[in-house]
Amino acid sequence: MGEPACQLQLFQDLPLVVHDRDQRSPELPALSFEVIRSSRRRKTVQARLVNGVVEIRIPAAMSAAEERRWVNDMLSRFERSLRSAHIDLPERAASLARRYGLPEPANIRWVDNMTTRWGSCTIDDSTIRICSETAEFPRWVLDYIIVHELAHLVEANHSKAFWTLVGRYPKTERARGFLIARGLDG
Ligand SMILES: [Zn+2]
Repeated sequence: MGEPACQLQLFQDLPLVVHDRDQRSPELPALSFEVIRSSRRRKTVQARLVNGVVEIRIPAAMSAAEERRWVNDMLSRFERSLRSAHIDLPERAASLARRYGLPEPANIRWVDNMTTRWGSCTIDDSTIRICSETAEFPRWVLDYIIVHELAHLVEANHSKAFWTLVGRYPKTERARGFLIARGLDG
């Protein structure tokens, strides 16, 4: 996985740039994007999908480094939402709950910008939130994160009883290793 293919182009001060980004997931086609510099735009960056191309509007005065940062950020967001759109979270949670004898959540959904955790659980209303970034992880890691949050519907803390429940999922240790390597355990 190299740098995005856009790197070279970004330093050219063209009003419109169209090219493909490196393909990061074999499941998805690479996203194409356009960068449009607008002199009327002062601060805000806007991105939307137009006919399969991510159109990113940035202020005309933005530096190349800032542009590169925003392009990467916006493309990552779109890639995440495309990936997570392929995963039926409620269905996956229901099937894991059945398989491992855990309660089904009343509500489970993706959230963006969860900076400190991969998942969270609100016991009061039985709601689980899963960080959309995890849609990029292998499915067995995502399943661990879901099982972890399902177990919190029974045990609110990280007690021994909690880990016994989570341990019903056979890839627990492997998945925790994967997440620790990314700097954060579930
Ligand atoms: Zn936990």
